[in-house]
Amino acid sequence: QLKLTNEQYLLYLVTFMKKLEKEKDYITQLDSVTGDGDHWVNMDMGFRKLIDQKSDLEALTFGEMFKKIGMTIMSTVGGSSGVLYGSGYIRAAQTVGDVQELDATKLADMLQAFLNAIMERGKAKPGDKTMIDTLHGGVESMRQKLAENADDAAVLQALKSGALAGMESTKEMEAAKGRAYYQTNKGVGNLDPGAVTMYYQIEALVDVLMS
Ligand code: ADP
Ligand code: MG
Ligand code: MG
Repeated sequence: QLKLTNEQYLLYLVTFMKKLEKEKDYITQLDSVTGDGDHWVNMDMGFRKLIDQKSDLEALTFGEMFKKIGMTIMSTVGGSSGVLYGSGYIRAAQTVGDVQELDATKLADMLQAFLNAIMERGKAKPGDKTMIDTLHGGVESMRQKLAENADDAAVLQALKSGALAGMESTKEMEAAKGRAYYQTNKGVGNLDPGAVTMYYQIEALVDVLMS
């Protein structure tokens, strides 16, 4: 039975950071060809700050922790991703409330709230070539497995594979939002950097939960 604890969530943040550090050049290059080149720096700055706050976050419920994460990202990260992640985490905090653990259904509710807040804040939808495509792909396949009463391992696998497919789908998309929209080819032929870093997060979360 899946029980996501806040200790595991912090482990997930560390796991994601390790992956992000490894992919610095790749992410920077993706945002250089489709945007302004700062996406890696923005993500690194925000999530590094979260790791610094680890000992404060450890004592919190999920609701409190997500709220603090949202406020920290919002105030640390200057780019669009700062506002979008900030809004996502703050909405997620309200949705989960003051609980100590998340089961698979609650995790899906959290991710759905996170996705909805990003779509509203960014005035964007699936297909616009953004981080939304990854998250939407993951949440949809996860919910489908939950509806089939699949076991937690299958639900988590679906979250990861749906997110991967969502990320990959951004490659041939024309951007309708974000800086890639202003490129002459609208980013066609390159993955969206925000979709890639969103996938790294979902991958890290699933890997921590399955280990
Ligand atoms: P900026 O574009 O301000 O430099 P970042 O480089 O940190 O910010 O983030 C860029 C990423 O943000 C894009 O790759 C895309 O995934 C995402 N993004 C940009 N605009 C939007 C939007 N309106 N809605 C959802 N996601 C967006
Ligand atoms: Mg950028
Ligand atoms: Mg920028």
